[in-house]
Amino acid sequence: MHDDHEPAVVVDALEMRYGAKRAVDGLSLTVARGSITAVLGPNGAGKTTTLETCEGYRRPQRGTVRVLGLDPQADRRALLPRIGVMLQSGGAWSGIRAEEMLRHAASLHAHPLPHELLVERLGLADCGRTPYRRLSGGQQQRLGLACALVGRPELVFVDEPTAGMDPQARRTTWELLEELRADGVTVVLTTHYMDEAERLADTIHIIDRGRLIATGSPVELTRGGSVSTIRLVVTSPFPPDAPESLTAALGPGTTVTVLDALSLLVTGPADASTLARVSRWCEEQGVLPESLSLGTRTLEDVFLELTGRGLDDEADSPDPRRDGVVA
Ligand code: ATP
Repeated sequence: MHDDHEPAVVVDALEMRYGAKRAVDGLSLTVARGSITAVLGPNGAGKTTTLETCEGYRRPQRGTVRVLGLDPQADRRALLPRIGVMLQSGGAWSGIRAEEMLRHAASLHAHPLPHELLVERLGLADCGRTPYRRLSGGQQQRLGLACALVGRPELVFVDEPTAGMDPQARRTTWELLEELRADGVTVVLTTHYMDEAERLADTIHIIDRGRLIATGSPVELTRGGSVSTIRLVVTSPFPPDAPESLTAALGPGTTVTVLDALSLLVTGPADASTLARVSRWCEEQGVLPESLSLGTRTLEDVFLELTGRGLDDEADSPDPRRDGVVA
């Protein structure tokens, strides 16, 4: 039986292997109903495998997955009409025309959206008669998204929704996903773009090497930590020895990086005392601050702190700490 009060998705101790390769390694996470939840991680972290298991395309080898209170394998027939899936690869027959594909996706549902609406909204009007294989990467992505949404799903899984899209299409896609949330639809997306996760997600699950390494809202994840920034912009150029003299004024634990003739970045504890010292240093140097702003860590910084690698690195690249490699 399903329970409407259960979270939209519950993944519990999921393990998935491809031969000897451990793609998902004891992953547990939940997705709240009506939220946008991002699964963020580098290429190869296990995001697609996890999503495909939630979508019922793969059977959990160990652990369990429940989606809208149902078992995606055993309750597949009941679940399919209630979810929308945008696959990373598109999953289309290469000769099918864009509009035919959308009509076909609509025909699988009892109460589809008028497909003209999606065509218009996603800027697909000009390519309705174009065979799938001739669409650009960004058009294929938009068509995949339209197919995922045409059945008015309660829950939509979108795998790297904006990969290959131009900035305009990215913004449209983000707005569309936000509108879905406003309508009460749950959105689960995978991405390795931190700006996408930061902009859209209520909750972010950061995964690496098939494991969950952090969970929280964008604000929770980027708050605190050891490193913050102060950006100083002045009205007349700094003296030539600015980096040295400011570093000396601030003391150990801070780094001063000159960005250009009128701005610099202090990295270190961004507290009241550091701010006061920066402003006193300006007075001593005879420069007038135009702005003095505090910055927080980005998700990229968080990922780097947790794994020793950047989000753009492959999941299989070495972890300098874990693998004893000195960078
Ligand atoms: P990407 O963003 O590159 O799709 P991902 O985080 O979605 O990465 P997965 O696609 O789930 O990660 O892959 C996890 C690991 O499992 C990777 O090391 C990948 O090479 C491997 N893998 C994925 N699919 C297969 C497969 N069909 N056969 C063998 N190995 C696979």
